[in-house]
Amino acid sequence: MMSGGELARFRKRLLAWYRQFRRDLPWRGTRDPYRIWLSEIMLQQTRVAAVIPYYEKFLQRFPDVRTLAEAPQEEVLRLWSGLGYYSRARNLQRAAQQIVARKEGERGSEFPRKLDEALALPGIGAYTAAAILSIAYGEKLAVLDGNVARVLARLGAMRGDLRAPGRWQSLQQMADSVLDSGSPGDWNQAMMELGATLCTPRLPQCLLCPVASFCEGRKLGIAEMLPEKRKKREPVAVMLAAAVFVDSKGRTLLLAPPKKEEGSNWAGAADHVPTLVSKLWHFPTISVRENPVEELLRSLRELFGGNNRRLELQPLGKVRHAVTYRNITIVPFLIVLAKLPRIASATILPLDGLASLPISNLTRKVAASALPGAASERRPLPRGDGGKLKAEGKAAARAVAGYR
Ligand code: SF4
Repeated sequence: MMSGGELARFRKRLLAWYRQFRRDLPWRGTRDPYRIWLSEIMLQQTRVAAVIPYYEKFLQRFPDVRTLAEAPQEEVLRLWSGLGYYSRARNLQRAAQQIVARKEGERGSEFPRKLDEALALPGIGAYTAAAILSIAYGEKLAVLDGNVARVLARLGAMRGDLRAPGRWQSLQQMADSVLDSGSPGDWNQAMMELGATLCTPRLPQCLLCPVASFCEGRKLGIAEMLPEKRKKREPVAVMLAAAVFVDSKGRTLLLAPPKKEEGSNWAGAADHVPTLVSKLWHFPTISVRENPVEELLRSLRELFGGNNRRLELQPLGKVRHAVTYRNITIVPFLIVLAKLPRIASATILPLDGLASLPISNLTRKVAASALPGAASERRPLPRGDGGKLKAEGKAAARAVAGYR
């Protein structure tokens, strides 16, 4: 790509630009590996502006690896609640526990310094390990993620799918070859900063770019077209029905985080409810095939052990939620009862106080549809969803169903 004097000038320009114009972010200016690690995990798939309040709140409660390792998982997930991709939080805590449990003589409570040890921790891949080790310890490791790959592809005018076999390795070689080994931490952050602020996916701001004169993509007039589009997975429509029980005190019922049963397959199905509720506390929820009312009632009957109580399902406004390739429609029903049923795997808490438990954004949206301010959204049962919704007219607005 570049060599000799040209590469030296390229590095000098980019580093000078970064040091002058970098954004003032809470994880910049620290070399504490725990803080850098936390920021890198939170920033995966998540915008900087969304991460900042979570990052600060998380550090107030868990200021170091040991506090995180010793905390109840539920509290960790609660502080993560709303940030999404909860496996990140679970892996973060498991990794903290592994670090704290290391044998005496090793550096207790500190993120490992060796690449192979870092990669052995849950949730740590090549990018995250390189970012933490270079920024915290000055290790000469170049980061490569989608952002950096886009910058490199434009600089080198690389065509094709960047994730195609062989191409990602070429990009890693490019990243390694341009790394400034005198300041690997700053260098990696400079590459990321360029991708995040100027060399953005759409409309790169080449006129402001400190390394525009080195950019082959710009010279060829193809920078905006790079990287070339990947074939996206076809979107899949998923329909769920959820039961929002409410008693006279405004309390509701949430089911405990689903646990994987031995031998069960949790991967694959687009409508897998435990995955869609992020394996967190959730309303009784099912995937709907044809008839939300009948199918939900059947499921509630099973949940309550065959109880014959009559339930009145009041349809709430439909809720939309998107997760990767899934376009999810949730049909929530309000079920008002004088007394909420007692279920071993459930908890009872105020409907407007669900933040005390870790819940997913999907559950949060369902709760919002049932809160008083959303009352005007309540409407008759959707027709045609799933092809065979039977409730009609008045019966649709209030589907009263026996529990037989
Ligand atoms: S010149 Fe434009 S395309 Fe090239 S690296 Fe800079 S911002 Fe990206």
